[in-house]
Amino acid sequence: MVSEPNSPYFREILDGIPVYRPGRTIVSPEGRSYKLSSNESPDAPLPSVRSAIAEAALEVNRYPDNAATELTSVLAARFGVPEEHLALGAGSVGVTQQLLEAVGEPGAEVVYAWRSFEAYPLLAQLAGVTAVQVPLREETHDLEAMLGAITDQTRLVLVCNPNNPTGTAVGGTELIEFLDRVPEHVLVVLDEAYREYVDDPDVVDGLNLYRRRDNIAVLRTFSKAYGLAGLRVGFLVGPPHIAAAIRKTMIPFAVNRLAQAAAVASLNAEDELRDRVAQTVAERDRVYNALRADGWTVPTTRANFVWLRLGKATTDFAEACAATGVAIRPFPGEGARVSIGDPEANDAFLAAAKAFPQRC
Ligand SMILES: *Cc1c(COP(=O)(O)O)cnc(C)c1O
Repeated sequence: MVSEPNSPYFREILDGIPVYRPGRTIVSPEGRSYKLSSNESPDAPLPSVRSAIAEAALEVNRYPDNAATELTSVLAARFGVPEEHLALGAGSVGVTQQLLEAVGEPGAEVVYAWRSFEAYPLLAQLAGVTAVQVPLREETHDLEAMLGAITDQTRLVLVCNPNNPTGTAVGGTELIEFLDRVPEHVLVVLDEAYREYVDDPDVVDGLNLYRRRDNIAVLRTFSKAYGLAGLRVGFLVGPPHIAAAIRKTMIPFAVNRLAQAAAVASLNAEDELRDRVAQTVAERDRVYNALRADGWTVPTTRANFVWLRLGKATTDFAEACAATGVAIRPFPGEGARVSIGDPEANDAFLAAAKAFPQRC
């Protein structure tokens, strides 16, 4: 394949990957700016976390600990798992790439729901595996159809629970039945980036499920509830042979010194972080209820965002929000994902939604 004259040969797959365009900063005519487009924590880092980062910064002339010894030990204690069950990466996106590196060979298939996390198709393409996308049913995972999509070539099934961007979560009974029916040669990964926001007891914590079988692992991140999106640290919890494989495919030193220090400090400040998560959950429920009262159809969300299936009106809706300084995440032709921010940002979004002439 030659895409440009005199160009080096690149893999054909790159032709299908769009050039990354940075999101524009959205500011209203009155100078207001609310970023509800990336599911981040609205809160600045805690003072204890800031000082851990500042202290770690004094040593950035040295490589980080490639084994992340302290963070691994603190995580193991916090979640009650052996250290051998853990593998880290540069965000859980980094760990997902490590997973695909570990299973990816020509002909290998990865099954996931669609629409789901945008990183999945990109990482699957880069790893050279075949993505098998199983349409959502009523905005949530169709686990029966996902089982049906598994073949001899399937190496990995990703279950994003709660699902990004719809916010829906599959319940424990359904998930357990699914896990018990997936063939043992297939690795199932529960991507629980939003686990901390789940307040429905019926949605079972993957960390209580992964020991059921030898082919189940759980992905967690410090990017959302722990507020460290800018530092890039995530982890996998799984049986030791899976965690070991995922450690092998990590780019050396992927989890940097500041990220390790901040993650340890965050685990030591969980009470304060829990209060912040509770605040976000309360705001989420307030936004959800206000939208419903205003005539919107909103799938039940267990995460820190809401989903509006606006279809053709999606782009207009995003523009209407932007005009009042509110940045949301549109998926043109499908719908809009709106993160939960602080009360002022959420009010600005609700006002923009109320003023929009259409409902979905
Ligand atoms: C935000 C998000 C992540 C987190 O990615 P990081 O690389 O840890 O920042 C992982 N999975 C899903 C589904 C997400 O929405």
